[in-house]
Amino acid sequence: MRIILLGPPGCGKGTQGNLIKKKYGFPKISTGDLLRKAVQEGTPLGKKAEVFMNQGKLVSDEIVVEMITERIENVDCREGYILDGFPRNIVQAQTLEEIDGNSQELVFDIEMDERALINRLQARRICPCCGSIYNFLVRKPKRQGTCDVCAAQLIRREDDNPEVIKERLRVYHEKTKKLINYYLKKKVYNKIEGTGEIDTVFGRICAVLDKQLIKFREDEARR
Ligand code: AMP
Repeated sequence: MRIILLGPPGCGKGTQGNLIKKKYGFPKISTGDLLRKAVQEGTPLGKKAEVFMNQGKLVSDEIVVEMITERIENVDCREGYILDGFPRNIVQAQTLEEIDGNSQELVFDIEMDERALINRLQARRICPCCGSIYNFLVRKPKRQGTCDVCAAQLIRREDDNPEVIKERLRVYHEKTKKLINYYLKKKVYNKIEGTGEIDTVFGRICAVLDKQLIKFREDEARR
C-alpha cells in the first residue's frame, strides 16, 4: 500500500507522516529530506539540487524519480510506504505508477489557509541530526532551540524564509495542485482539514486510514 501526503508546504505532511509511520509501521520517504541530506553531504546530486531548492523551485523530475525508485525497491517498502513531498507534478505521478503500479493507493491532501501556512513555515525549526520537526506555534521543543530526541541545536531550513516561501507556494499552486484532480479521478483522494492540534489532524487521517486498511485486507483475502 502506498500512502501519498499531498498539500502545500507547511501543512504538516512531515509531522503527520512521522505519526503514520509510528502507528502503522510503514517507512516514510520524504524527497525533501533525501535532497537535504544530499546537499548536506555535498554530493554531485546535492550540489545540483541545492540551487533549485534555495530558490523554492522544483528539482528536476529525473533526480527525484531516480531517488524514489531506488528507495522504494528496498525490502522495508514491501508492505507499504508513505510518500511525503512526492509526487509534486503530473509527470512524477505517472512515473510513480510505472515504477510501482501494483500498490493500492491512498492520498491525503492536508488543507490549510495560506496565512496560517506562512506563519507556520516561518516558525518551523528542524533537527539537522534526526530530522525531527518543531514549530514555535504548534509544536515547541521541551528546551528552547534543542531537539527533544537527540539534543542537537535546532535550525531553520534555508528555504523557510519569506521570499522563498512565496515562491514555494506559487509552485505548489501552479504544479502540485493539479494532482488533486488527478487523484480524484482515480478515486483515491481524501481531503483532510489541516487546522487544529496535531493529534486532532492525525485522528482525521486515522479514521480514513483504518477504514481503508480493513477494506484493502478484505480485498486481498478475496483474491
Ligand atoms: P519539501 O521538504 O518537501 O518542502 O521540499 C523541499 C524542496 O525540495 C522543494 O522546494 C523542492 O526544491 C525540492 N523537492 C522536494 N520534493 C521534490 C519533488 N518531488 N520534485 C521536485 N523537487 C522536490
